[in-house]
Amino acid sequence: MSLPKETTVTCDQCHKAHPFTAWESLNVTLDAECKQQLLKGQLTQFTCPDCGWSGEVLYPMLYHDMEKRLMIWLWPAEGDPEAAAMPSPSSILDNCLPQ
Ligand SMILES: [Zn+2]
Repeated sequence: MSLPKETTVTCDQCHKAHPFTAWESLNVTLDAECKQQLLKGQLTQFTCPDCGWSGEVLYPMLYHDMEKRLMIWLWPAEGDPEAAAMPSPSSILDNCLPQ
């Protein structure tokens, strides 16, 4: 299962804050669609509803592929992450982006 987290992103151009869905964990075996959306950059893309500016949003994400027995924790921040802060790979929800 995949775990979305509501957060806010401040637009680089008009400096207004807008809601953004970040994925704390992404299980691409159960949510095959999510993998395609991630590869296309849709899960890390923010488009401002006010001015139309768009840019990439980098956030920590646990990438889990059960078939390939692969788990990657994407960590864009500096330093090493706290292991205790790692999101549980077996959490809620099935849908990637709201339909
Ligand atoms: Zn804007």
